[in-house]
Amino acid sequence: MVFRIFRFRWFKRALALVLGVLLGVGAAQLVSLAQEAPTVWEVGTEPAFPPFEMRDDATGDLTGFDIELMRAIGKAAGREVKFISLPFDGLVPALQSRTIDAAISGMTITAERAQTVDFSRPYFEAGLAIAVRESNTDINSLEDLAGQRIAVQIGTTGAEQAAQVEGATVSTFDSAPLALQELLNGRVDAVINDLPVTLFAINEANLQGVKVVGELVTEEYYGIALPQDTEALAEINAAFDTLLQDGTYAEIYQRWFSADPPELPVVAPALAEAGTATGLVWGRLFQNLMRGAWITILLTAFSFFFGLIGGSLVAFAMISPIKPLHWLCRIYVDFFRGTPMLVQLFMIYFGLPALFQSLGFDFSFNRIFAAILALSLNVAAYLAEILRGGIQSIDRGQWEAGESLAMNPVETMRYVVFPQAFRRILPPLGNEFITLIKDTSLAAVIGFEELFRQGQLTVATTYRAFEVYLAVAIVYLVMTSLASFVFKRLEVYMDPINRPKKVKKDPIPSAVVV
Ligand code: GLN
Repeated sequence: MVFRIFRFRWFKRALALVLGVLLGVGAAQLVSLAQEAPTVWEVGTEPAFPPFEMRDDATGDLTGFDIELMRAIGKAAGREVKFISLPFDGLVPALQSRTIDAAISGMTITAERAQTVDFSRPYFEAGLAIAVRESNTDINSLEDLAGQRIAVQIGTTGAEQAAQVEGATVSTFDSAPLALQELLNGRVDAVINDLPVTLFAINEANLQGVKVVGELVTEEYYGIALPQDTEALAEINAAFDTLLQDGTYAEIYQRWFSADPPELPVVAPALAEAGTATGLVWGRLFQNLMRGAWITILLTAFSFFFGLIGGSLVAFAMISPIKPLHWLCRIYVDFFRGTPMLVQLFMIYFGLPALFQSLGFDFSFNRIFAAILALSLNVAAYLAEILRGGIQSIDRGQWEAGESLAMNPVETMRYVVFPQAFRRILPPLGNEFITLIKDTSLAAVIGFEELFRQGQLTVATTYRAFEVYLAVAIVYLVMTSLASFVFKRLEVYMDPINRPKKVKKDPIPSAVVV
């Protein structure tokens, strides 16, 4: 046997030495990673904002106007630039906590943001625009948006603008392309987004069936954001001035927009306005979190209910003697257990309507329906396995006992096998329920304003990440603890020996149960 070699002392020593060296090298690498050389700037960006920041499909590297500009700025300042991918609404909190040195992400210089972070001088002139489906002739201006359904990217100036439209239903997405996909799928009437990004999606990224209407809604300037009061600000501004003067800026601009750059102001006009950053109002946060918690509870309850029905059907199909049915269910369970829930949610919500529409059907999903469908399908796969395992764990003798009492198989299942299986199933069932409560937070990615999203939305306007996410976590904890308590009680109740005596007697013959 190979394992005999372990008996030799020299082998053990050599093994210990090799492992020791490997651990040492690993630790040294970790330390060197942690102590990033001071010449490196770690720059945050949200790389789903073409043509400013995106992934080059051919090379897999980051590319875009912002990326090239930042690299050039780094070069002029004698710094190495290392990009860190972050969600857009996470950039300002990351700057606040100084986990990154700067952020370049098509970020508009606003008076509100300027209260928490510093901005470089403006490096790009942009503005918001309205996008609608080509067939829509009713929406031509901001006024026409009243009472309409609008999709926006979370934490952006577009989201702020949409929030001011009277009577509009606004849904928020993690990135601009997702909001545009929502428009394409027909679930919203308009998207408010930065004009160059929408135009790029239409002209270069082949977003068909969408058009930009009316005038620019706002005039905005992008700036590089930095933590407050850092020396890097002066370095970045000086390097940017160099690029403006030596023509590098114009060259990069030409390459991405095939035009000459406009004259840029030294200070963004928005900074002249008084900033009114919304402070964190605890009462309002509580209200919003409760609203979100209610949606989380509804999502959990419905998905668990349908998951339980689906899971039971699948479990019975899996123990049935019909082989094709068994295999079909196996594929279903393996698929939904073996792929991430997030992928399933995206596939159902964004993928299916896109597929049907490309086939010529006018098909679109309701958000609630899609979320409950995805969650139920996923939870049903887990529950099916739990139920099947529970039923099959009951000794065959119990079936025979039922038979000897002249019960038919359905009766044996109902009175003998299932009550016993149910007791075994309860603890994993409780686990599944608690997991589901937490998993509903994934519905945030399709614009559902459940508990987690409510937190994100508050952080997007108040930039108080720690307090808000702690509050969100506490609400989840209260919900999961409550669920865990209820399942524990249920376990006690279902235990024929330890349950409180007053409870009504079972119709199950006690000889079979014990
Ligand atoms: N310019 C917009 C803003 O700053 C959107 C930026 C982005 O999504 N990357 O809010």
